[in-house]
Amino acid sequence: MFVTRFAPSPTGLLHRGHAFSALTAHEAARVVDGRFLLRIEDIDATRCRPEYEAAIYEDLAWLGLAWETPVRRQSEHLDDYQGALERLEAAGLLYRCFRTRKEVAQEIARAPHGAMEVFRGAPLPRGEEARRLAAGEPFAWRLSLDAAARALGGFGALTFVEEGSGEPRVVQARPELGGDVVLARKDVGVAYHLAVVFDDALQGITHVVRGEDLFEATHVQRLLQALLGLPTPVYRHHRLLTGPDGRRYAKRDRSETLRELRARGVTPEDLRREMGFDDRPKPASRPS
Ligand code: GLU
Repeated sequence: MFVTRFAPSPTGLLHRGHAFSALTAHEAARVVDGRFLLRIEDIDATRCRPEYEAAIYEDLAWLGLAWETPVRRQSEHLDDYQGALERLEAAGLLYRCFRTRKEVAQEIARAPHGAMEVFRGAPLPRGEEARRLAAGEPFAWRLSLDAAARALGGFGALTFVEEGSGEPRVVQARPELGGDVVLARKDVGVAYHLAVVFDDALQGITHVVRGEDLFEATHVQRLLQALLGLPTPVYRHHRLLTGPDGRRYAKRDRSETLRELRARGVTPEDLRREMGFDDRPKPASRPS
């Protein structure tokens, strides 16, 4: 059974780009009589707001989408993600990083000839770590690529199937592109990557349909699946919708929201048509 999901974060109002993603996933499930789930990715309490979550339900229903209930809200399952984090920690795959974001950026910039494009670090000597912990210094848990490579005997076996555009192909995952990613920090207990792989497995997602802006994230997520012994879904990264100016829609650009479109009389049918969706059954072609 084909199971996919749309997994927005309630950090703002949805715009056309979200509608396209949700419709693409919904349509993918519909044509094969599969299941479509909605998941609210609200682990970052500093950025998520209840009114945006309410708007997600309102906008998606307006678009004509139906999803299974209850909806999984990540903020209600933080213990699950914490448990996964602890398993990685117990396996020696994480280390505490006390650097600030600024220090990390400076370190990357200082590396000769761009030798370090992403952050790679190492645990501090025990004494120093104990001293900084005792002083109450904040830290982030980072995934150690070195430890992960040792645990898995390299990353060569990490592949995933990409069906996004053109023929399905097997992609070699390159988690090293993401560096030693942060999997937890003080203000946000557990990072996006961990919650996503945990939930995709728990919810039995067979196909992850999402924008190609998350293609790189898939490389990291593939590694986490291997480290946690979770299955790997098939991926369909879809193209990103661009506006008349050729730029992709984004919350930060103040793209026109679905709510605004609705207010100025745009109908869901208009939007579906504009995006190339037509859910009326296609007439069977007649022999000529
Ligand atoms: N919550 C993520 C976002 O809003 C999407 C995660 C995913 O589809 O895997 O960008």
